[in-house]
Amino acid sequence: MTGPPRVDPRDVIVVGGGPAGAAVAIFLRQHGREVLLLDEARFPRDKVCGEAVSPEAWRLLAALGVDGAVRMLAPHPLHGMAVTAPDGTCFRGDYRGAPRPGFAVRRERLDRVLLDRAREAGVDVREGTKVSGLLMREGTVVGVTAANGRGAEALPARLVIGADGRRSVVARRLGLLREHPRLRKFAVRGYWEGMEALEERGEMHGGGGGYCGVAPLSATRANVTFVLDRRDMAPAGDGLERFYRRTLRRWPRIAERLARSTLLSPPRAIGPLALEASRVSAPGALLVGDAAGFYDPFTGEGVTLALRSAEIAAAVADRCLRAQSSEGLREYDRARHAATRHKFRFNRLLQVVVGHPRLANAAARRFVQRPDLADRLVSIAGDFVPARTALGPSFLLELLGLC
Ligand SMILES: Cc1cc2nc3c(=O)[nH]c(=O)nc-3n(C[C@H](O)[C@H](O)[C@H](O)COP(=O)(O)OP(=O)(O)OC[C@H]3O[C@@H](n4cnc5c(N)ncnc54)[C@H](O)[C@@H]3O)c2cc1C
Repeated sequence: MTGPPRVDPRDVIVVGGGPAGAAVAIFLRQHGREVLLLDEARFPRDKVCGEAVSPEAWRLLAALGVDGAVRMLAPHPLHGMAVTAPDGTCFRGDYRGAPRPGFAVRRERLDRVLLDRAREAGVDVREGTKVSGLLMREGTVVGVTAANGRGAEALPARLVIGADGRRSVVARRLGLLREHPRLRKFAVRGYWEGMEALEERGEMHGGGGGYCGVAPLSATRANVTFVLDRRDMAPAGDGLERFYRRTLRRWPRIAERLARSTLLSPPRAIGPLALEASRVSAPGALLVGDAAGFYDPFTGEGVTLALRSAEIAAAVADRCLRAQSSEGLREYDRARHAATRHKFRFNRLLQVVVGHPRLANAAARRFVQRPDLADRLVSIAGDFVPARTALGPSFLLELLGLC
């Protein structure tokens, strides 16, 4: 430690400067709060992600004052999704009624824009600063310990927000986050130039023992990421690039369009993907984004959810700081649950279908016959149509062809 801790704790320390951390910091500045944000990385930094962002994100980006800057990145528009079932049946769904299409953009560019906006908004952003632990007093989080190239220090705060992603130090030190006991999926991502037949829509291809997503970043460039069970990842030990190229052949509709393309950089793997948080608040602390748990990337809502959980967390945090009490932080558990529970149930249902090829083939055939239902499904995945509309009996009866 270099010297004693400051005696005047700042309002909030945010750990992590990805979409969740940058967004919660900006929202807190909008409430007039003093915020210090620490990230171990230096931006722009890479993040393994499918990079397809749902239409609902635009509302949140506008609330953060960053939608203009994101448009300047010229993200590739996504008007919907094309889904290919294991037997090759393909259906398309449109983001019908969305004020703006979704988009695909490199995360290193998107995240940098968000972090720059946080700095402009008056957040004290310190990159290259790794948080290693929490300062605790009588069971309450009262700050963090952090280190940069010049040494370590204790940084007190009235509230700590863990936005430090899947390996969250904040969540783990509080014993709130663990790997999912059964879901053990891994993902491998690569960037390709020259991919054929890319459209202005995201793609999901089932089968092959998992699934593979394609996010077009331009008319010819794509992020191609597959997700497999851990046991299928064993051969990756012999060389990730060889494994990645070889595994892509499991999805012939993708492999044939990549035959004349160039893999732009070595692929990267990540996993296990699924993480469960028992709670998302603790005395003196909140968790946002992936630090609050992660299920599966199939529906591609992670970035939007990170921004949305940041919006909810900032409002609760500001109320508690105003009341000078951390009692009300539990309100965040309730509010986040209310905002996400239908979508999470929808995701779990979808996983059941994706995990059973015959069911997935039958569902895909039905969506081909009923493009209106395909639009609804894709719009729910795009987060601007409430998921509860798919969980009600009428949608299921329509899907089964019973009405
Ligand atoms: C394979 C895959 C595909 C996905 N595809 C999509 C998709 O298509 N669309 C979508 O919307 N979402 C997708 N997601 C989800 C999305 O990537 C995440 O939900 C999103 O990145 C969450 O943002 P975050 O800010 O919580 O975390 P992150 O973006 O991971 O940011 C966490 C930050 O914390 C920092 N940090 C970590 N530890 C420390 C520490 N100890 N001290 C200081 N800083 C620290 C890191 O450097 C990092 O910058 C995908 C995820 C995976 C795994």
